[in-house]
Amino acid sequence: AYRKGGYHAVRIGDQFSGGRYIAQRKLGWGQFSTVWLAYDTRTSNYVALKIQKSSLQFAQAALHEIELLQAAADGDPENTKCVVRLIDDFKHAGPNGQHLCMVLEFLGDSLLRLIKYNRYKGMELSKVREICKYILTGLDYLHRELGMIHSDLKPENILLCSTIDPAKDPIRSGLTPILEKPEGNQNGTSTMNLIEKKLKRRAKKAAAKISGRRVSIVGLSEAPTKTKRNLDGIDMRCKVVDFGNGCWADKKFAEEIQTRQYRAPEVILQSGYSYSVDMWSFACTAFELATGDMLFAPKEGNGYGEDEDHLALMMELLGKMPRKIAIGGARSKDYFDRHGDLKRIRRLKYWPLERLLIDKYKLPEAEAREFADFLCPIMDFAPEKRPTAQQCLQHPWLNLSTQNNEDQIEGKMSNMQIKG
Ligand code: ADP
Ligand code: MG
Repeated sequence: AYRKGGYHAVRIGDQFSGGRYIAQRKLGWGQFSTVWLAYDTRTSNYVALKIQKSSLQFAQAALHEIELLQAAADGDPENTKCVVRLIDDFKHAGPNGQHLCMVLEFLGDSLLRLIKYNRYKGMELSKVREICKYILTGLDYLHRELGMIHSDLKPENILLCSTIDPAKDPIRSGLTPILEKPEGNQNGTSTMNLIEKKLKRRAKKAAAKISGRRVSIVGLSEAPTKTKRNLDGIDMRCKVVDFGNGCWADKKFAEEIQTRQYRAPEVILQSGYSYSVDMWSFACTAFELATGDMLFAPKEGNGYGEDEDHLALMMELLGKMPRKIAIGGARSKDYFDRHGDLKRIRRLKYWPLERLLIDKYKLPEAEAREFADFLCPIMDFAPEKRPTAQQCLQHPWLNLSTQNNEDQIEGKMSNMQIKG
């Protein structure tokens, strides 16, 4: 896809924005972009440089993303609201066309990587709780203060804040900035290749140190293990990223939003959506962090499609969808009959969330009940009944440590005994 209208090929040492930023190594990529670790020579900081594909369609999407990120930055001068910070943006001319570039604060690994790191076994609920607070802080800010819907919340789009600043702590991070660039050399190709090779070797070494066994940005190492990892001492601070699909609540432009597994039922049924679609994705994400499994992984089957399987999975977990909601969407007739029963999947195997957490994931009963009490209301089939991010932040599950929860439950019981 490195062709006209496509990705911009970047080499280590390449300069951007009149020499201000120097590419260090690739951090990741998405459908529309590649993301690079770059060194900001003006501030002596590392930044993430997101370089959009060049065709008009991608450029427009990037302009939209920049508008949303800029609004988020303007409303949060202290940078405390758990949304990735836009530092700068500019155009870069390359052989494949003009690329819009975003300069973002440099963050660490994604929650997806954290889930993989834990070998898909899930992490302690105390850690899940911590992460949930940060995500909800970000969502509350986007929804209530900015009027913005993220529309693509999922573990991949939530990044941990890096605990090491490579610029301030080059020894621990093992990274010294690469400042030379092969293009600057005038001595012919053979020397250029040599320099390029040398730079590549250096970058490889640095990358190995920064993300490898010894030290990584958030302290995660790749070494395989048979047991669940201990995340003690790892700060779970994180931020919401990737506003490529975001929109203003009063200016939506897409009917089909969200990544499949995190998609809300009203999006499948096309009955209109708002902020609460992000809350649905949030609940799916919280479950995945705790268990290591996706909450809903729909598959096309014999005689039915992915959408219908998805709706069936939702009902098996959360109970039957109220008829009015089931038949109320523009697409309802594709999946439901007039009684509100699925057309092709006739027998559902109900397995409520609390039982699932106990039976399949072996959570202690009290913990399973509390976690399910937190998650189930967020997955109400009626979008307007779902609690807002602000209301979720008030939920006792988030605000009490496990010990306190037990105390509270004991307290309730003794109160009941006194009353009784
Ligand atoms: P896309 O819209 O193409 O999906 P994203 O914004 O999700 O692009 O970025 C793609 C990947 O790049 C992310 O999943 C992550 O691995 C990496 N990335 C993005 N932003 C940052 C950042 N600020 N710091 C570090 N890595 C980042
Ligand atoms: Mg993404």
